[in-house]
Amino acid sequence: MPRHPTPEQPPSEIDPDRLALVAATLFHRSHEAILITDQANRILDVNPAFSRITGYSREEVLGLNPAILSSGRHSGDYYRSMWTSIEKTDHWRGEIWNRRKNGEEYIELLSISRVHLEEPGQYYHVAAFSDITALKNHAKELDRAANYDDLTGLPNRQLLEDRLRSARIHADRQRRTLSVCYLDLDGFKSINDRYGHPVGDQALRTLSERLTRALRSGDTVARIGGDEFALLLQGDDNHEAVYQRILATVGEPVELGDESVTLTASLGITRYPDDSADAEGLIRHADQAMYSAKEKGRNQYHFFDPGLDEHRRRRRNQLMDIARALENEEFELFFQPQIRLTDCQLLGFETLIRWNHPEHGLVSPGQFLPLVENSHLEVPLGQWVLKEAIHQMNVWKAAGEDLAVSINISAAHLMDRSFADYLESYLHSHPEVHPGQITLEVLESTALEDTKRASNVLARCRTLGLQVALDDFGTGFSSLTYLRSLPVDSIKIDQSFVRNMLDDASDRAIVESVIFLAQRFSYPVLAEGVETMEQAQSLRHMGCDCAQGYGIARPMPAKEVLEWASQWRNRVQAGSSGKLDQLISAAQR
Ligand code: C2E
Ligand code: MG
Ligand code: MG
Repeated sequence: MPRHPTPEQPPSEIDPDRLALVAATLFHRSHEAILITDQANRILDVNPAFSRITGYSREEVLGLNPAILSSGRHSGDYYRSMWTSIEKTDHWRGEIWNRRKNGEEYIELLSISRVHLEEPGQYYHVAAFSDITALKNHAKELDRAANYDDLTGLPNRQLLEDRLRSARIHADRQRRTLSVCYLDLDGFKSINDRYGHPVGDQALRTLSERLTRALRSGDTVARIGGDEFALLLQGDDNHEAVYQRILATVGEPVELGDESVTLTASLGITRYPDDSADAEGLIRHADQAMYSAKEKGRNQYHFFDPGLDEHRRRRRNQLMDIARALENEEFELFFQPQIRLTDCQLLGFETLIRWNHPEHGLVSPGQFLPLVENSHLEVPLGQWVLKEAIHQMNVWKAAGEDLAVSINISAAHLMDRSFADYLESYLHSHPEVHPGQITLEVLESTALEDTKRASNVLARCRTLGLQVALDDFGTGFSSLTYLRSLPVDSIKIDQSFVRNMLDDASDRAIVESVIFLAQRFSYPVLAEGVETMEQAQSLRHMGCDCAQGYGIARPMPAKEVLEWASQWRNRVQAGSSGKLDQLISAAQR
């Protein structure tokens, strides 16, 4: 280690000749370009590295002004401030764009020193620089990768957030507003499916260019991913016309191969400072609003509304959970027996769906079916129930029990164009299942919008051999209309009337009337929600044919059904008079 010189021992001075030799060697061998100019800034000498970097030989540049290297990229002010620094401090250091002899631009890290000579007022300038173009390019590459989208060259989400953060500060200072728009192409997947991904990519590039052109220079178009873009619009003058223009820009036909395709988008918009969320929050809110725009129909825009959009977001998340649950087979069918009141014979089981939620345990249908109603999951979930119920019938049949099942069908599922076809083909592939053992329970309380069509679908199901029951009878608006116009085989009295019929005269009157009505139409009638012996007896006396309820058994998992059925039969066989009472009190124990 070289020791630091102490004040008592001044360093031995290098002799000037040696120093000159060291300097000359350094000058010649340095990797940095070195150039020396005189007071008038004429080049006195350059080293070999200078020639290597710039392409000019020493002879070519002697006597010339270094301005021959100028790229023209920097303003006069830039050079003026450089010279001011040299005048004041004898030094300047910075990055500068120059041009090689072959015309190529490069960026150098340059440091210029004014070296004062022995004669007063006389000096040289010594400039040393290295070519940092490759370094810069690499840094730019890294920046690009981190901040820009590969496909379109547009800023990505990260850069958008950065810009949005600065734009918010700027908007605060200038007391101006800004808008964040989330743009999602409608049905873009079908473009990829139909034309292939390269063509889809081309469409995205074309669209990116158009959107960038359609906005002002201070605005940002970013690609968030897939077919999703975000726009940051600055200034107060972002009125409806601007959003219309954005949708119109998306709607300009795009040439894909020989075809011309028209795209549409859904646009969600939020405005700062009305929406005072941070950058991330603004983007999220615009995204939520975009979903609402999608729900309104395609080719629309929608402004963020905190209450409403939050509600929609929650519903969307819950639906996503349900979709996942369907995929993960978290649903399960429970079965509740239905019996004949006159002789206590077991008629079959109603299938009731449950959700085995990984965190919340067994969830009852009342907690998730309302969410599924009118969503894209209604049909898939309904199909799952059909499949699973028929599968169960098969399992029992293989075990020697030919049990009938009653399956709840939602109105939208019933009205779905594929319903009867699906059922027919499923039954076709399961010839061992006897269709007469299947009853479809159609909810009377859900308005079947098109009674004529519902009637046609049910008629077709009956020709397949299935039975139809009108569920929850009396709770809807058009019970009597349905009774008259739908082809049904039986009626179920809703449990809400059965519950209080012994104490409440009106409920009792309704139950009696429904039974009377059913008899006039010659429909068997089943009472739901039979919990007590008294209810069962009273129903039997009123002429009600069948019953279902906790008094007989609670809904049970499929694996308990066979055991329960055989026990019930044994008890029925063993009993004599007053069987029903004994059975119900046995079930309640
Ligand atoms: P629902 O078709 O009227 O089914 C009868 C409901 O009453 C079932 O409720 C059942 O557990 C309950 N229940 C049966 N006996 C008694 C009783 O004695 N007392 C009381 N208090 N309740 C009784 P759950 O399983 O919660 O189902 C509720 C509704 O959800 C069903 O009413 C039906 O409309 C619907 N649902 C259930 N499973 C399905 C399904 O797979 N598909 C469709 N579309 N709807 C279903
Ligand atoms: Mg039912
Ligand atoms: Mg019911």
